[in-house]
Amino acid sequence: MARHRSARTTNGSLSAPDAVSSEHAVMLPTTAPQSASALTAERQTRILVAERTWYAGRFEPELAVTIADGRIVAVGPVSELPAAAVVERLPRRLLLPGTLNAHNHSFQSLLRGIGDDCDFFTWRDRALYGYTPRMTTEVIYQGARFAFAEMLRAGVTTVCDFFYIHSGGNENDRAVIRAARELGIRLVLARTMYDWDGAPPQYRETIDEAVGRTRDLWRECHDGDMTHICPAPHSPHAASPAMIQAGAALAVELDTRFHMHVAEGRYERDTIRAQWGLTPIRWLESLGLALERATIIHGVWLEQDDIQLMGERDVRLVYCPASNGFLGDGVTPVLDMLAAGVALGLGSDGGCSNNRVSVFDEMRTCALLQKITHLDASVLPAETALAMGTTGSAATLGLPAGRIAPGLYADFVALDMDDPSLQPPWRYEKNVVYAMTPQAIREVIVGGRTVLRDDTPTSVPWSEILGGLRAATSDWPAV
Ligand SMILES: [Zn+2]
Repeated sequence: MARHRSARTTNGSLSAPDAVSSEHAVMLPTTAPQSASALTAERQTRILVAERTWYAGRFEPELAVTIADGRIVAVGPVSELPAAAVVERLPRRLLLPGTLNAHNHSFQSLLRGIGDDCDFFTWRDRALYGYTPRMTTEVIYQGARFAFAEMLRAGVTTVCDFFYIHSGGNENDRAVIRAARELGIRLVLARTMYDWDGAPPQYRETIDEAVGRTRDLWRECHDGDMTHICPAPHSPHAASPAMIQAGAALAVELDTRFHMHVAEGRYERDTIRAQWGLTPIRWLESLGLALERATIIHGVWLEQDDIQLMGERDVRLVYCPASNGFLGDGVTPVLDMLAAGVALGLGSDGGCSNNRVSVFDEMRTCALLQKITHLDASVLPAETALAMGTTGSAATLGLPAGRIAPGLYADFVALDMDDPSLQPPWRYEKNVVYAMTPQAIREVIVGGRTVLRDDTPTSVPWSEILGGLRAATSDWPAV
């Protein structure tokens, strides 16, 4: 038996030690190596031994990672395995936890290139609102499959799709879920609740519709490890206070987190201040929400008081550094948040506001932006960025993932130690964040199953994915 299992708290999230809450809290050992000999043979379904395994903040040789029923059940020295154990050697491979893309809009991968180099409102109106009428269930399915396959290739093992083109039901949501299941990527579908009447009708629902449909979808999906549903009131500008309150209450009812875009652009902070006389997080507090279940996205335009409140109430943040740069929003005060004890994860955001879908890229961008902002190269080291895209993102999603440790999801990426972008080999953890290119990612494992090998998803070939993409968009006019 595993000596340590992940502790679930009542708010459906990992307990504090699993979150990235400060520079000094990351990558500390939380479990001692587990004696693999304690396992019974019938529980062993796969035992991985990479040349080096990222474990407790170090790359360790000769470490056996034992997987059963989609979870890691033991980590320990190969020498302690039973003689009869069947070991899968991964020579010249680095085994890392898979990355978690904690914020994305999969359909936006179809719109890459359409609204580039525009201000936020032009981008939104031209790309999102302009193409929403074309988003049939089939188009959404093809877009999700394309987006998720490209993410697998970038080493993403879990994606949170913040999805809002419901078109009066859950069929489109189910199409996203189907795409994820086909490819074998783990999915959190943050089912968006949207009632601002300036948005396309496909996004809009009454509060009762949004709550009822989100609850229905949760009931369909909540009993497995691969698909998770949580409510997601869109933002302070696109969900009414009553809708936001309903989303938070539903998170309490379903024992999930709830996601919401907050303070992405300066205009939103200014609007809240003008209308309510409050800063963004104080305004959310004034609505009486269960803030400890809140995962906010972006958080660019927050005051120090907001940040302190986030730390006190365990409001978690998904930071999307490249998207914030792409749309000219600004730089989130990441160091202040870490100092305040805020759990921080990383997201790529949509494929038409980045325009990449790699969490490894977000780690690099995050670190570089903080070094630039503070004119100090030491303020955010590679190890902190790596933790943000793994354990930190897992905390923002409330999932037992992001580390190689007993009890957690068996989600990994295997990197080619001989790839030029990981050479020379002095500090692989630095190279992974600052130097690695996607060619180094040779195998992706989700729930113990290999879902990508040598650039290709194991379940659906690229020809089918790209063929579906072309067919779905064949009648779109040239931009
Ligand atoms: Zn977003």
